Amino acid sequence: MKTDKIIKAAVIGWPINHSKSPLIHGYWLAKAGILGSYEAIGIAPESFNAGISNLVLQGYAGCNVTIPHKETALNKADSVSDRAQAIGAANTLVFKDGKIFADNTDGIGFINNLKQGAPDWRASAGTALVLGAGGAARAIVYALLQDGAPKVLIANRTLEKAKILSDFFGDKVGVVSINEVPDALGEVHTFVNTTALGMTGQPELIIDISSLPKTALVTDIVYNPLTTDLLKQAQGLGLITVDGLGMLLHQAVPGFEAWFGVRPVVDVELRQKVLAG
Ligand code: NAP
Repeated sequence: MKTDKIIKAAVIGWPINHSKSPLIHGYWLAKAGILGSYEAIGIAPESFNAGISNLVLQGYAGCNVTIPHKETALNKADSVSDRAQAIGAANTLVFKDGKIFADNTDGIGFINNLKQGAPDWRASAGTALVLGAGGAARAIVYALLQDGAPKVLIANRTLEKAKILSDFFGDKVGVVSINEVPDALGEVHTFVNTTALGMTGQPELIIDISSLPKTALVTDIVYNPLTTDLLKQAQGLGLITVDGLGMLLHQAVPGFEAWFGVRPVVDVELRQKVLAG
């Protein structure tokens, strides 16, 4: 009797109900006709070790990891990718022969979103300015440098956090205060908002970006609303813009490929499904 094995993956977090990951992976599973499952599993912080061990024992191929487990997951892994090590957090775990491999795909998801949304954009073409110095900023600064950005400037409400990131990443990364941002814009090729500002339910992002060069790209990793006020301002100035939804979709690609053996495509239908879902 032929018994096809169902490949199982999941996203774990606490809480987990809000996660779009089951929708994304479910879409790709159906599209590729793969006998697989992808579910959201709530695991409380105190149950993290037991929860992961259970998934390994139950034969899961791996899982995505979200808040509040991203740092704990890195420490629990048997091996870690260079990018997860540098970012200091994991969002993707692959289980093989009882061992756990940890990766972080947020940065590559960010870069691949820009490459899809603005095919002529190159990180290497000039300075990037990153607003924010939290977990997402760390992944994005790392990815911009890896992709050839000659210089990255970080501006953050809490200047000390920007300095910690700049010290960690070295000479190519500098810090500007929020007040200095307008003066720095003239040399900026890539402008990124990684703060929560501008998201529905959060305060507005108040910033004048009119002194950016006409060739600059502006992106916002906030995707709720999809077209934030920052992106509206950039569009009004005729600048190239890319919204943040694609980062969420592209960060999911490497995990799907590792677990299910097929590299999935981020297409318009997926975007529409996630926006509607
Ligand atoms: P985080 O580690 O908590 O960092 C939050 C950042 O926002 C910090 O730089 C913080 O500044 C700044 N911030 C928050 N409230 C602020 C305020 N009222 N005024 C000024 N600055 C403020 O969060 P994160 O993980 O980096 O995520 C940041 C945002 O990105 C969230 O909205 C998240 O949903 C979004 N995100 C999107 C994707 C995607 O796939 N598109 C992926 C990851 C995250 P301080 O340091 O001064 O507190």
